[in-house]
Amino acid sequence: MCYASQLIGSKGDNLHSLEAWIRYGDEVRRPLCVAEDFHESSAICIVGAGLSGLTLAYRIASKRPDIQIEIIEKSNRCGGVIETWSHNGWICDVAVNATRPHPAFWRLVRDLNLGTQFSPSNAVANSRWVSTSGRSRKLSPWFMLGRNPMRIWRGVKNARKGGRSVADSIPLTPINDAMTLGIVNDYSANVDADFLMPSMTQFGENPPRKWSKIKKQMQSTYPLFTPKRGSTASFAGGMQTLVDGLVETLNDFENVTFSLNVSVDSPEEVAKMRNLPLSSIAWCGPLSRNQGKYTELNIYAVGYTIEQVSAVKVGYGTLIPDTNCPVSGILHESDVHASPRAPEGHRLFRIMSPNIRHKDDEAVKDSLRDLLCKSEPVLFEKIGIRRIPSYPPGYMSSLDNNNPKYTKAGWYYSGISVTHVVTEAERIADLF
Ligand SMILES: Cc1cc2nc3c(=O)[nH]c(=O)nc-3n(C[C@H](O)[C@H](O)[C@H](O)COP(=O)(O)OP(=O)(O)OC[C@H]3O[C@@H](n4cnc5c(N)ncnc54)[C@H](O)[C@@H]3O)c2cc1C
Repeated sequence: MCYASQLIGSKGDNLHSLEAWIRYGDEVRRPLCVAEDFHESSAICIVGAGLSGLTLAYRIASKRPDIQIEIIEKSNRCGGVIETWSHNGWICDVAVNATRPHPAFWRLVRDLNLGTQFSPSNAVANSRWVSTSGRSRKLSPWFMLGRNPMRIWRGVKNARKGGRSVADSIPLTPINDAMTLGIVNDYSANVDADFLMPSMTQFGENPPRKWSKIKKQMQSTYPLFTPKRGSTASFAGGMQTLVDGLVETLNDFENVTFSLNVSVDSPEEVAKMRNLPLSSIAWCGPLSRNQGKYTELNIYAVGYTIEQVSAVKVGYGTLIPDTNCPVSGILHESDVHASPRAPEGHRLFRIMSPNIRHKDDEAVKDSLRDLLCKSEPVLFEKIGIRRIPSYPPGYMSSLDNNNPKYTKAGWYYSGISVTHVVTEAERIADLF
């Protein structure tokens, strides 16, 4: 089993306490894959300098200056999939661009003194659309409920049996596909409902008090500002601001060192290399022995003058489940963020094109003539390729069966979003 509570005695018992629920909300449903003796290490090696590895190092190092922490990273930079591209006043995140509300994320921002650079996203840019067969419809609870509520109810009830796909749990095609494409770049039949929405499937432990009451208490714990329901928040300068803040702070710690351009194949290899027990290794990357499936996305930054796209409504973005369209999602970057993302008089869109639908740049540009604007964009730049792990049905329950001889953290295990990764790091550090 990989529930740390079953391994770590009295500290572990607190993992499902009322206080833990108020602090971490339904993240408490997610298993922690922590080695039994991890918190007793005098030296720790963290593999992977993405958001997960950096936050884990920061949380443990701030609490325990007596523990030596080395972060091993195979590339020459920190941040993992997070990177912000910028050029001549255009600023575009290649991966995550904003966070949904969670107190753990807000606490991280406050503790890193990044509060002045962090603000709620633009409230007028909340609308999301789904485009099918060339027709764009706004997503709303009414739109969902108008589509066979009995079927939805039966799906949700079934999902509580565990191990189901999102398509089984929310039998609402193409809305379920639009949703999973937007979150994990995959079709809903291929995605584990427990991993994506453990609250809905009631995965793991249930809260000790009515969930609505806990949520209300949780709402009062936000530092900096209390976010509105359904809102997002982001950094001036993009997500790179968070990575830079973490790296700068970690560089000031005497007990933390970075080893970049070092690739290791397994936790066992790191333990041997650094003469550490296996229980002192935290693996924050994929493991070739049980991960290997990904979907791949081509990411474009596309800009127009405001006049060119005056017919495009201000909003969050559009999801496109149609497999014959090379574009699966359009995010209205300059509408969403409070900080500027485009030069004066312009709008910036981020375009996602999954590899399975991707032919070439021209095909993407062509489809934008129908989806956004007939005229030529003033900016059309491919800013990166990103791989997103697959989370097939049954994935979350399979994590329970791993034997945690070493600790595993990050989006391969904790959940897809930055809130999962950041919360998990804080929960693990609570064990120290
Ligand atoms: C296109 C895209 C859009 C996204 N949008 C959102 C969003 O809107 N909202 C949201 O909340 N989240 C979003 N995410 C997810 C979010 O970015 C991730 O949850 C988070 O960044 C994962 O961080 P991580 O540290 O777990 O993993 P990674 O960023 O993958 O970091 C892992 C690190 O480990 C290193 N590594 C791997 N193997 C080894 C090895 N063997 N030896 C040494 N080093 C190794 C890698 O080089 C990398 O630096 C998005 C992701 C992508 C790709």
